[in-house]
Amino acid sequence: MPNESLAELSTQTSSSLFLAVAPARVIRGSQVLAATVDEITRLGKRPLIIGGKHTLTTTEEFLQPLTKAKALHVEQVYYSPDCSEASLLSLRNAASQHKADVIIGVGGGKALDTAKLVAYQLDLPVVTIPTSAATCAAWTALSNVYSDDGAFLYDVGLSRCPDLLILDYDLVQTAPQRTLVAGIGDALAKWYEASVSSGSSEQSIIIAAVQQARVLRDILFQKSVAAVNEPGGTAWREVVDASVLLAGVIGGLGGAQCRTVAAHAVHNGLTHISKHATGHHSIHGEKVAFGILVQLRLEEMIQGNQLAAAARQQLLKFYLEIGLPRTLDDLGYCDATIKQLHLAAEIALNPKSDIHRLPFKVSPEQLMAAMVSTTAPIDTKDTMNRVSVRGLSGEVEE
Ligand SMILES: [Zn+2]
Repeated sequence: MPNESLAELSTQTSSSLFLAVAPARVIRGSQVLAATVDEITRLGKRPLIIGGKHTLTTTEEFLQPLTKAKALHVEQVYYSPDCSEASLLSLRNAASQHKADVIIGVGGGKALDTAKLVAYQLDLPVVTIPTSAATCAAWTALSNVYSDDGAFLYDVGLSRCPDLLILDYDLVQTAPQRTLVAGIGDALAKWYEASVSSGSSEQSIIIAAVQQARVLRDILFQKSVAAVNEPGGTAWREVVDASVLLAGVIGGLGGAQCRTVAAHAVHNGLTHISKHATGHHSIHGEKVAFGILVQLRLEEMIQGNQLAAAARQQLLKFYLEIGLPRTLDDLGYCDATIKQLHLAAEIALNPKSDIHRLPFKVSPEQLMAAMVSTTAPIDTKDTMNRVSVRGLSGEVEE
């Protein structure tokens, strides 16, 4: 199919033999920051800590083992307004003013993406300290760049994963529960996207990555409810490891080839609906979780894929149990106009979008139809679905 061969061609030319699988070192445990000072000192003595303004204030006490360490000359700076080109420029200036020789990112996905990209641009080592389990950004060699208003623009592949990842469970536990739930959504997407983009790969490493994604999904199905009910407990720790570390392993092994398909493309499109126009600001993994439902709905509506229909029903039940959004309303887009949804769909379908890794063509009208019907009951007469899609779009690829 044309889309598949295009995707394959681009990965063949861009991936060559380059792999950035994992951070050089991962330290995890409770109250582990004090024990990491020596490790950080090996990377540099003048760290620039980059985080969100709110995060750097709330984590002040946690960070004291670093900020008060005699061996380190620490400067802290917050990124604002987003992981955007303007923020990156001012942070590079702050780093050179401080004569920073190592960058430390503290926070969620955006703070860590910012810190990783500043370090990459300045060719400095980078340490990531996630303050939530909302994404696997602490692990991966990838940064997403947004506009100052938070609209997704592009991603940048980095030359390597972080030099050190410090996962302090006590720090992660201070984050709102919603971040862990969002992290579960983002991690689940690994399976639903990698199995579509790379499920038929013959390459050993890609097969391994896709299978890890399935294992990750199963762990999340088994342990997430317990994790959400008992923060800090054994299941909670396992789910944190799964969302922050194991999800990162899959991205590292699979590379660009098994990263994303439609779920993340839908996320990217939704970020362009202005947050001022909606009452509620949803986070990355929440939009991605919704995007998985949209992807399955597309497979169901356009391909008549009954497995996708069953998978969607299974996810709807699971989302309800742990509190992931199932509809645009749940995400806070209840007031979104048709025009805004059309814009989101067009952005999700831009020529460079990973949505084209789906083995069929999608029109903006079909994507909009999928976005507003994520909770539709299974239609066993799949021809009915095709008829309704044809009615909306007027052009269906059979
Ligand atoms: Zn993601």
